[in-house]
Amino acid sequence: MRFFYDLHIHSCLSPCGDKDMTPNNIVNMAKLKGLDIIALTDHNSSKNCPALLKAAERAGVLALPGMELCTAEECHVVCLFPNLDAALEFDKMVEKSLPDIKNNPDIFGEQIIMDGDDTITGTYPTLLTTASSIGLDEAANLAGRFGGVAVPAHIDRPSFSVISVLGDVPGEGFSAYEISGLNCVDTLSQRYPAISGKTILINSDAHYLSDINETGQWLELGFLSPENVIGALLNGCQWGF
Ligand SMILES: [Zn+2]
Ligand SMILES: [Zn+2]
Repeated sequence: MRFFYDLHIHSCLSPCGDKDMTPNNIVNMAKLKGLDIIALTDHNSSKNCPALLKAAERAGVLALPGMELCTAEECHVVCLFPNLDAALEFDKMVEKSLPDIKNNPDIFGEQIIMDGDDTITGTYPTLLTTASSIGLDEAANLAGRFGGVAVPAHIDRPSFSVISVLGDVPGEGFSAYEISGLNCVDTLSQRYPAISGKTILINSDAHYLSDINETGQWLELGFLSPENVIGALLNGCQWGF
């Protein structure tokens, strides 16, 4: 069965995320748009995932906990996990790998942590948009160690992408890739053989509610579960948009 997804969404924990990107607003907008599966992927942090998963459970939308990791090379990688414990363990590792630079909310924006009722429970002090010390190769292994999957993000964008940083798409360790939708998959596959035959995701990378995917992008899954989504991205599945 085809399920509509958006597996790259930022909340108000990302300094560049809109304040309206609260856990409940994200989930309700995704539901309104007819999505079956979403993932929360804030920059270098999974600390709003507990709240988002609570809100998603109430709304009846499948939500995967995740993170958009910025590697040491400054490549963005969407990391997705089958459960909260795994995501929060991964979060701990990433937290230790971030440079100790304080966020300046006036310049970068606030980094707001919420509970499942959208009540602010704190702000995260360290700037989340810096590069971690985790290398691209290591990212795939580390996500795998926690039962997750690492997907190079917006590979065709001019910044923070494997193509813009490395000039190529690495094949080793990656089973799925995200493209921004601005480029044609066939053209990219011809130029970068590593992505040929792999699962390609088109996510919104939404920082504003209105940017969350409409229905269109789909994955073919036997049934809806976090493990099934991760398994499909690791082992391949039918996909389209
Ligand atoms: Zn990114
Ligand atoms: Zn992003």
